[in-house]
Amino acid sequence: MLPYHTLQEAEISLGRNLTFAETLWFKYSAQKSDYILYCHNTLFLFIFYTLFPIPFVILELLGSKKIDKYKLQPKFKNSFSDMMECYKKVMWTFVYAVGPLQVLSYPVIKWIGIRTSLPLPSGTEVFWQLVVYVVVEDYANYWLHRLMHSPWGYNKIHRVHHEYTAPIGFAAPYAHWAEIIILGLASFLGPLMVPGHMLTFWLWFILRQLEAIETHSGYEFPWSPSKLIPFYGGAVYHDYHHYVGGKSQSNFASVFTYCDYIYGTDKGYRYQKNVFEKQQREIKHPQSTVFDMIKVSNIENSNPVYIV
Ligand SMILES: [Zn+2]
Ligand SMILES: [Zn+2]
Repeated sequence: MLPYHTLQEAEISLGRNLTFAETLWFKYSAQKSDYILYCHNTLFLFIFYTLFPIPFVILELLGSKKIDKYKLQPKFKNSFSDMMECYKKVMWTFVYAVGPLQVLSYPVIKWIGIRTSLPLPSGTEVFWQLVVYVVVEDYANYWLHRLMHSPWGYNKIHRVHHEYTAPIGFAAPYAHWAEIIILGLASFLGPLMVPGHMLTFWLWFILRQLEAIETHSGYEFPWSPSKLIPFYGGAVYHDYHHYVGGKSQSNFASVFTYCDYIYGTDKGYRYQKNVFEKQQREIKHPQSTVFDMIKVSNIENSNPVYIV
């Protein structure tokens, strides 16, 4: 709750007029407790994991050839009921595990020092805080995900997420409840190191959700704005991890590609990609994705060539 009763009080306190964004924030948040503002994050979790995968569901159901050329594993088709089943399971996991955790974590947010007050952070401050959040989380997730691929971690927890060898948008948070909580905790590390405004905190979690959905969408579009982000892995990168499945020791990072490069866990992926590109150049094979290439070479050679 803001420590001002009126806009005038806020302006006197800041010694200047409020910006348009600050006025909006004042009107929205002045009468709401910090706890209620923090709980918005739980609401966003349900809203964005419901709405953002819908365009990918529509693309899947349309099944047009024009669109299927952007589908990473076009031979895998999901019916509407398959996708709804995934969605329902995800929402139940949120209800009994993630929602309560988000609400109970409020004291941590207060302790970290996430503020709701005025002034609002500048665009530059928000940008650099988000950079820190994503880099820290990506690094932590790389190692946590790698641990999940230990025999115990995989069999007890991570195998649920790998039930989808060809991911769909709704399957981004489809995982054992323990995995959602463990990997979710990594999202708090950045704000813990560089605490910011509640708006930045909301934005961080929303962007992270959108990224996870895009990465699991099963589609790679050349015009996606995420292509502009340096070292961004994207859908093809993570799809390969799912495609190879439980024995995968490749492409662990959730957002960027450099951790896998530095620690040598992208060798299988790069090998397959190079073979595919060479094949495209020399044999002019008609297949359009690295996944088709792997499947074709398996069939042709009758000898699996997975390099994980
Ligand atoms: Zn995995
Ligand atoms: Zn995944």
